[in-house]
Amino acid sequence: MDTKLIFVTGGVVSSLGKGITAAALGRLLKERGYSVSIMKLDPYLNVDPGTMNPYQHGEVFVTDDGAETDLDIGHYERFINEDLTKLNNTTTGQIYSAVLDRERRGGYQGGTVQVIPHITDEIKLRIRKAIQKLEPDIMIVEIGGTVGDIESQPFLESIRQLRTQLGSRQCCFIHVTLVPYLSASGELKTKPTQHSVKELQSIGIQPDVIVCRSDYPLDKGIRSKIGLFCNVPEENVIENLNARSLYEVPLMLEERGLCRVVLNTLDLEQREPDLTAWSSMVNDDIDPDRECCIALVGKYVELHDAYLSVAEALRHSGIANHARVNIRWIAAEDVEKGDPNEIFKGVDGILVPGGFGERGLEGMMIAARYARDHKLPYFGICLGMQIAVIEYARHILGWADAHSTEVDFNTKHPVINLMEDQVNNLERIGGTLRLGSYTCHLEPGSLAEKLYGTSEVHERHRHRYEFNNDFIEDFRTAGVNFTGWNPRRGLVEIIELPDHPFFVGVQFHPEFKSRPDDAHPIFKGFTAAALEYRSGNLEN
Ligand code: GLN
Repeated sequence: MDTKLIFVTGGVVSSLGKGITAAALGRLLKERGYSVSIMKLDPYLNVDPGTMNPYQHGEVFVTDDGAETDLDIGHYERFINEDLTKLNNTTTGQIYSAVLDRERRGGYQGGTVQVIPHITDEIKLRIRKAIQKLEPDIMIVEIGGTVGDIESQPFLESIRQLRTQLGSRQCCFIHVTLVPYLSASGELKTKPTQHSVKELQSIGIQPDVIVCRSDYPLDKGIRSKIGLFCNVPEENVIENLNARSLYEVPLMLEERGLCRVVLNTLDLEQREPDLTAWSSMVNDDIDPDRECCIALVGKYVELHDAYLSVAEALRHSGIANHARVNIRWIAAEDVEKGDPNEIFKGVDGILVPGGFGERGLEGMMIAARYARDHKLPYFGICLGMQIAVIEYARHILGWADAHSTEVDFNTKHPVINLMEDQVNNLERIGGTLRLGSYTCHLEPGSLAEKLYGTSEVHERHRHRYEFNNDFIEDFRTAGVNFTGWNPRRGLVEIIELPDHPFFVGVQFHPEFKSRPDDAHPIFKGFTAAALEYRSGNLEN
């Protein structure tokens, strides 16, 4: 195997930005001309995060090939600018399912099936399979969870075995830890890092590089102390301070020499990266010329991670428009209780993102109606498109009972309906949504076609319900344009209101394909419309 492996583990506490560190390193390697892929091993027993509540897990990121994955896969895609696959995310649930399935088929020929070697073999097999299929020069493997968790032990044991089997020049271990600051004594503390590295060493893993998250710079003394106690050269102790923008992290880690020490460890050629384009993108992000405010009206807004890719795509659209997009997070239920004129005061656009279930739907509908009435830019994504359709049916077509059959099975006007092939999926909900990339044809002359600049696109999906084509003529007559179609099944993919500066609903999730240096065209157009709305507003 020619592919070199980088393993990223985390210590001390969770939420240290391990995923960002892995993604940022991926970018730095790519900028040096190495091909890179990144995978994440998640230690939970769910087969995938698709069935988890967003409050538990944050967003479910969807790949082109229809895998429901961890949100870190989204960070990887955005940083290394590669479309990843189901091979890039594995969970304990998948590992055990495969092993138990093989056991039931008699695949272990009478043997006792155990965590070591059978579970660990399956983990190694998945890493090898991903490498074989994707053939990167370098595969970065992030281990979810924190070292010391019972759940992640089989993963750590597997990567320990891999290093022994492949040889030390083939693998690099990066451990991301926290160096906390104690204000009482005015000191940075290295002990948690020492303990966490000891924990790793006790299972046979010696990290090559230690990335230290810290609120304050680590002086030479601290770095040499960590190096001494943790058994790594001082230059392999890399400080990772808080960044002004997520996208600044690669630049900061480059300055600290992360990539150089990693390439050294892997015995790979040192090359100069060209970070000019990335740096200028980061500058646009940090220092914009203007700003606008987008109301994000959703069900899970208390946890911003539930809408991570939407928030990032808005940020990208800001970068592309030299503007800061401020998000006003609005709980849909609050809209039901409050006065929309107050709630949306100072807002330049409304975005209703995806979601499931009944809670908050009426509030989202009030938001869509407010945007329609006030000629305020509106962007509905998946559920947000369905909401716009229901609202239009109720208030323009006059069908007060119009609804989605997801919520009201008996409505006389099921304008959003279960897709035919979904009828038998309501009992077995895991992995059975309409998932992944589908073709969408754009109507000539539509806003969508203008924004994309082409007539055929591919976008990712995650839904069970769709626009009910029985009502298409009614909506057309009432002034709705259907501007995006799935050519094979005739499913509505995009709706627009022509008599409005920007009112677009899409059945797919464009946020998954937006990149910091290549904003998604609809997001870009939405933010441009919001900025225009704002300048009109400010002039008045
Ligand atoms: N709940 C809706 C459906 O299943 C919308 C899904 C979504 O917004 N991702 O069709």
